[in-house]
Amino acid sequence: MAIALADAAAPSGPLVDPQKRVIDYLRISVTDRCNYRCTYCLPEDGAPRAARADVLSFEEIVGLARAFVALGVRRLRLTGGEPTVRRDLPALARMLRALPGVEELALSTNGHRLTELAAPLRAAGVDRLNVSLDTLDAERFARITGRGTLPPVLAGLDAARAAGFTSIKLNVVAIKGFNDDELAALATFAWERGFVPRFIEEMPMAEGRTFVPGALLSAAEIRARLAAAHPGARIAAVGGGRARGAGPARYYELAVEPADDARLFGIISPMTEHFCDTCNRARLSATGALHACLAHDDAVDLRGPLRAGGEPAVVAAIRAALAKKRDGHEFQLVGLGGPRKAMIQIGG
Ligand code: SAM
Repeated sequence: MAIALADAAAPSGPLVDPQKRVIDYLRISVTDRCNYRCTYCLPEDGAPRAARADVLSFEEIVGLARAFVALGVRRLRLTGGEPTVRRDLPALARMLRALPGVEELALSTNGHRLTELAAPLRAAGVDRLNVSLDTLDAERFARITGRGTLPPVLAGLDAARAAGFTSIKLNVVAIKGFNDDELAALATFAWERGFVPRFIEEMPMAEGRTFVPGALLSAAEIRARLAAAHPGARIAAVGGGRARGAGPARYYELAVEPADDARLFGIISPMTEHFCDTCNRARLSATGALHACLAHDDAVDLRGPLRAGGEPAVVAAIRAALAKKRDGHEFQLVGLGGPRKAMIQIGG
């Protein structure tokens, strides 16, 4: 269906929020289910699950994506929950990649099902892949993921490599007392395979967890640990350390000698080195709630307007929601606490 951009409630032009940030990137959670139970992602007694009837169908996801694309969104990322537990994910990927205006389709996954899905997803048009991997130790892996096992993820990474994605990134949540002694090994593991490692500061998500000073492994400590593992290494910010690519990561190169091949790594630092001024994203939950900011609980329902009024109604709702996008977040303030929502509910 064509979208009536001339609608008074939906003036034409790209999505620009009050801070003049252009929103051109949408993360789409295709399910709130996950085959893992990562301790930092889920509250201890789990998160409420959406009723099946509330979860968007593929056609509805594509309808909403089309509205975003008509408003200037060019990059889509499939996430979750764990997106690969949604049946027929490659079919959805194919539908989204075929939308005129979509320049890039990416996927975030825990990698558990990539052995069977990497090739079909690549064939369906997924360009880039982010795979979560917090440890290379099987016992630690089982502990942090609750019910995951390491071998399928390692095999999945091999399958992903063979499938020919344009980029594969390894997402590592850096956790003090858990994997701080493994960051350099994880980086080397990634570099040896042509992947880009990215370290994420742990956010106090879910149930209003509060930020505890001293408990966080900061971006500065992450850099220091990588440097310490490579004596004489030089770490230089790429592009002045500004966000590069579609997301919020800042990139650095680690080189031991001037002539050495520099190794690229990224850091996502929502806690200690804000990137909110460059935020270009919005998040769509599996039930069609539009979250303009990860760190706040306010969201606008798009499923209702889609089911009642179709895509023109959605365009107006999207504009209204993003007109209220927050300047930034306050994860790092002592005592304020994070959002009630869990990562699993909105796709990180
Ligand atoms: N299941 C998929 C995956 O593993 O990538 C997609 C969803 S997951 C919520 C997306 C990313 O968010 C993962 O890299 C995960 O490690 C990260 N994440 C979840 N909770 C987090 C937290 N509290 N702080 C920082 N990163 C978190």
